[in-house]
Amino acid sequence: MEKYYITTAIVYASGKPHIGNVYEVVLADSIARYKRLKGFDVYFQTGTDEHGEKVHIKAQENNVTEQDYVDNISKIVRENYDMLNISYDSFVRTSDIKHKEIVSNIFQKLYDKGDIYKDVYEGWYCIPCESFYTDLQLIDGKCPDCGRNVEKKKEESYFLKLSNYTDKLLDYIEKNPLFLQPDFRKTEIINNFIKPGLQDLCVTRSSFDWGVKVPFDKNNVIYVWIDALSNYITFLDYDINNKSEKFNKYWPADLQIIGKDIYRFHAIYWPILLLALEEELPKTIFGHQWLISDKEKMSKSRGNVLYADELVNDFGLDQIRYYILSSMPITSDGLISKELIKEKINSDLANTLGNLINRTIAMSLKYFDGIVKKTEKNDEIDNKFIEEVSKTPKKVDEAIEKTNISLALSNIIDLARICNKYIDDTTPWILAKDENYDKLNNVLYNIIESIRIIGILLKPFLPDTSNKIINSINTKIISYDSIYKFGNLENNITVEKIDILFTRIE
Ligand SMILES: [Zn+2]
Repeated sequence: MEKYYITTAIVYASGKPHIGNVYEVVLADSIARYKRLKGFDVYFQTGTDEHGEKVHIKAQENNVTEQDYVDNISKIVRENYDMLNISYDSFVRTSDIKHKEIVSNIFQKLYDKGDIYKDVYEGWYCIPCESFYTDLQLIDGKCPDCGRNVEKKKEESYFLKLSNYTDKLLDYIEKNPLFLQPDFRKTEIINNFIKPGLQDLCVTRSSFDWGVKVPFDKNNVIYVWIDALSNYITFLDYDINNKSEKFNKYWPADLQIIGKDIYRFHAIYWPILLLALEEELPKTIFGHQWLISDKEKMSKSRGNVLYADELVNDFGLDQIRYYILSSMPITSDGLISKELIKEKINSDLANTLGNLINRTIAMSLKYFDGIVKKTEKNDEIDNKFIEEVSKTPKKVDEAIEKTNISLALSNIIDLARICNKYIDDTTPWILAKDENYDKLNNVLYNIIESIRIIGILLKPFLPDTSNKIINSINTKIISYDSIYKFGNLENNITVEKIDILFTRIE
């Protein structure tokens, strides 16, 4: 069985994640589910990044130990993911003892090889961002990322020699067109960051001690670049002298999904770390856009934060999965608000998808007590319809391969629209009035076969809805392979009454 290793970034355990933070894990979940359906041995990893100064400060504010603080946040994150029906195989935490040991070994190895060296670092430091900036980077004397005050700071630190690997990285990027995706991100990384020259990266901090200590210099803590980034291999039981069975099986990662704000770190520091360790690079690192409200990034200070659990309570689980997956374009940010969610649920899920399924099943029950016969008496209108339906699975495959999930979902909803139009064109109620039962049977079979295909196509994205649809038509033909040929629905199945699939929101 071919393996497929997919990861998300690990979420920083400083507070409860908002809907924008969980978009990424829902995206990864849908791809993981899809690959499982396609027969891959999928390993899907996500988790929490638990070290650093921000956690230290939050723990102090809350009068608890750092470990207690991250235990609680990590639990909240995991509960949020479970509530969103995320099918992760592994939920990792960087405060894990084994992980810390391996990070320490990685640091030692790179130091011994000469890829890490000690030097003095001086610059402007922003505590909340945990970052140093040069004079040039400051905006009006303040942090360029968050706008807060910065302080002058000087510390002895360890640096990773990025310059040792810049040419190798560039060469790899050029020879592997799928490595950095989408393409415009690749261009940005090469032109804005690599070509102007990479400064060696400061990989330790001494201003706090909540983290993995440098093994031979306990005043310094290994910073996020090595600690958090290496989670993708440490939790495959990788160690510098031991390429475990799990590592050999799943590494390199097939798809690493990353938000655009930390894409640069994953496209430069992470591969260089792997090159220094003499390990293979991931096949694809995909940078996604943000889900923003009111055309601004969500933040507590702006008061525009939406949380996944509250939205799921208000609108329903698959409704929210659908909204966020279908509302994120590849090249621009997606918008989210309660009003937009309502509109989309009503138009796509209630009026289009739900309406198709509820009215088809109602007709089948009314005219034939739910029994669906395969008569294959297709005329031109039916053949044209079948041809349209048959194109969809391939279109969906192509969109998913490009990590374009909003396109995949719009193809599926379009299929439901095509079915609704077919019903309007063939007018089953008139066929019934005319007692043209052969023809009526044929039309209903064609629609219900299309509903079967829709039900299977929806499996990775809306798992609960997909189950409801498939159960209501009582088919046993549910393999993903079965949707590439129209007409696999059994003869003489009996459909069952189904509750309203999606209620319109007023
Ligand atoms: Zn800042």
